[in-house]
Amino acid sequence: MKSLEAELADARDLDVTAIADAIESIGFECTRCGACCKAIECGDEDAGDGAADEHTATVFPDEIRRLQGADDEYDFRDVARPMPYGLSEGADGPEGETFEWSLQTDDCGDCTFYTEDEDGMGACSVHGDRPLICRTYPFSVALGGTSQPMGEAVDREGMVRAHECEGLGREIDRAEAESLAEALKERAVRELEEAIAVRDNYDPVEPEPGEVVVHDSEGQKRPDGTPLDR
Ligand code: SF4
Repeated sequence: MKSLEAELADARDLDVTAIADAIESIGFECTRCGACCKAIECGDEDAGDGAADEHTATVFPDEIRRLQGADDEYDFRDVARPMPYGLSEGADGPEGETFEWSLQTDDCGDCTFYTEDEDGMGACSVHGDRPLICRTYPFSVALGGTSQPMGEAVDREGMVRAHECEGLGREIDRAEAESLAEALKERAVRELEEAIAVRDNYDPVEPEPGEVVVHDSEGQKRPDGTPLDR
């Protein structure tokens, strides 16, 4: 298995033109259906019986600060929550340790920044500051150490993947394809830089009952984003 450093070198070598070619060949236009911003249960009538599958999208520490706004318009917990994977359900709620943060969700399990008009047309209230994972949806690149590549390959090398999305197959202009390709490369580099920093800053702690500890690229934190000093 390749080291994270080798994967990062590969990410830095990604050819934006080739990625843009792949995106242009499959085509994409956001239809504002909101499927990528909503919980499965709320967004999908077929999902059934109330087993809520909350929206979960990784957001990095610097992206959280940007979303909070220059004047801390939003509290840390308004923006992010501990990534739920790895946590268990204790007597008073989730407990244990986890890695990284996910965008905060509302009561319905949708991304807290998702809004919908009367016609059901979705919008992102932080569009200009949305995290890289949102800027690049439904695409990902197949490099080890990045977020799990999703969906079918759309290039011959199998590097660029596209998750199922109703916007795929729609015409995209070259400038838009290049911009998406650049964001996709930036995301791959950032994800690997984060993974390396999480590994290097990892300091095992034994969470107390009812406590959640989040390991991110800046160290160990409480669910409100403050450092865990112990
Ligand atoms: S930040 Fe915006 S684009 Fe990203 S999941 Fe939330 S509403 Fe959707």
